[in-house]
Amino acid sequence: MAPRSLRPGRDGGAPDAAGTAATGGADPAGPRRAVVVGGGISGLLAARELALGGLAVTVLEAGTRFGGSVGTHRVAGLDLDSGAESFATRSPAVAALLEELGLAADIVQPAAAGAWLQLPGEDLAAAAQPMPAGGIVGIPADPSAPEIVRAIGRDLAARAALDRVLPAGAAARRPGMSLGELVRTRMGEQVLRRLVSPVVSGVYSADPDVLDVDSVAPGLREALGREGSLAAAAASLRSAAPAGSTVASLRGGMGRLSRALEDQLRSAGAVLETGIRVDSLVRTEQSWEVGAEGRRWSADAVVLATDGPTAVDLLSPLPGLPALPDDARPAPGPGVALVTLVLDQPALDAAPRGTGMLVAREVEQVAAKALTHATAKWQWLADEAGPGTHVLRLSYGRALGPDDLASSADRAAFLPDDELFAQALADASALLQVPVGADDVVGWDVVRWTGALPSAAVGHKARVAAVRDAVGAVPGLEVVGAWLAGTGLAAVTADTRRRAAGLLAQLGTI
Ligand SMILES: Cc1cc2nc3c(=O)[nH]c(=O)nc-3n(C[C@H](O)[C@H](O)[C@H](O)COP(=O)(O)OP(=O)(O)OC[C@H]3O[C@@H](n4cnc5c(N)ncnc54)[C@H](O)[C@@H]3O)c2cc1C
Repeated sequence: MAPRSLRPGRDGGAPDAAGTAATGGADPAGPRRAVVVGGGISGLLAARELALGGLAVTVLEAGTRFGGSVGTHRVAGLDLDSGAESFATRSPAVAALLEELGLAADIVQPAAAGAWLQLPGEDLAAAAQPMPAGGIVGIPADPSAPEIVRAIGRDLAARAALDRVLPAGAAARRPGMSLGELVRTRMGEQVLRRLVSPVVSGVYSADPDVLDVDSVAPGLREALGREGSLAAAAASLRSAAPAGSTVASLRGGMGRLSRALEDQLRSAGAVLETGIRVDSLVRTEQSWEVGAEGRRWSADAVVLATDGPTAVDLLSPLPGLPALPDDARPAPGPGVALVTLVLDQPALDAAPRGTGMLVAREVEQVAAKALTHATAKWQWLADEAGPGTHVLRLSYGRALGPDDLASSADRAAFLPDDELFAQALADASALLQVPVGADDVVGWDVVRWTGALPSAAVGHKARVAAVRDAVGAVPGLEVVGAWLAGTGLAAVTADTRRRAAGLLAQLGTI
């Protein structure tokens, strides 16, 4: 794409001195105005695209900073990612954006060591093994491969291989199926529990029996129909992705992406406000009015870039919007807590479990669902930390099954900070098989994310389609974000750019 230049816009979306709306509709003499609600990556990116298209843009963010799930925290003098720490390279979307932002030279690949899988067993060391490669969302491309036989045993691997002879028909044709049901039917319970569940739990904090297969593995059912087996479908989706590592990041951390977008918007004259929790959206004859605690902003176009429940609450009372289905409002996402430990512990120099571990739910001795050995994964960080210093990040908020969704089955994510810290030390020691004590810790932090990982429960794809149809019928309105596009920077980047381009075309500015 040819580079476009950002033009300064007037701050037409800002409220007037009395704190009420900048009056009236669009000023035919000035640039059109857009208000973006939510300043996560989707909101910042939508704002950037609209600013590039010549609109005067205002971004309203409820929190105290921009970037949403992509941010930075400082622990023991190191700037570390507090949320997302990498992006999927299956599509070129994020790399292309980074290039446009002048960050391409700082894209880094993770260490080749790869991640490990902690399977249940009395002896945790014996039950740990390198993560099988080659499949998608943990579904093996070859159930007879030695690492799969090691993970689930010879008999169950033979059961999994039955997938190759089972007729593909019903599952391939049935939308609204859970990932769990699909994998269980084709390959058996143990493939689901030992291989798939740890992977999806790491990404979605949800049990595969709850997750809509079409949302978390788009194209998998179609590939099953085409290829005749789930293993072949996984292999075919995997081979469609570029060779090499499946993720990449930025030297200095993914938080740089948020900062680069924010900086670019500011230097283009966009108005960026934090501490504004938008609570109303109204369509007047000539413009939109966005409201928050008595303040109002008027605009020619509005982009909602919040979480799903908030977006549906803002959309639901909107006159002129086709009725949304009763179940349009997604459940709030699960609570996740991340404990970062910066340790002086040279025994970890050997990276005993590669770049980190995914933990099967059935592992009783450990409460964490995943551990990232960040200094083993990212060389730039190892260089910054220095010899013998290590950064570990443990995630809490384990997968909940359909039966415990309403309960607090995973209490670990809600423990007070000091208890969670103690738990993280115990979990790190058990998973890495290296004793990690409070004396080794040079800094630590707990970051809690509430509702940041959108629910992708069965029926989600249909819900998304219904919301998009309704929003598409209203001029000057767009909705973006991970709850619609799918979790992850690759999904939100590609989708947000597409949606922003559509809105610009609709406004006749390109
Ligand atoms: C802990 C964690 C780790 C992750 N790791 C990775 C990873 O390694 N790789 C990857 O690709 N993806 C990862 N993800 C997912 C990825 O970060 C998200 O999919 C993506 O950042 C979502 O961006 P978003 O803008 O759609 O939503 P968000 O980042 O959630 O932003 C939404 C914003 O809207 C604001 N908002 C909500 N309501 C209002 C309101 N009423 N008024 C104004 N503002 C409002 C919120 O405060 C928030 O800032 C991770 C997510 C989390 C939580």
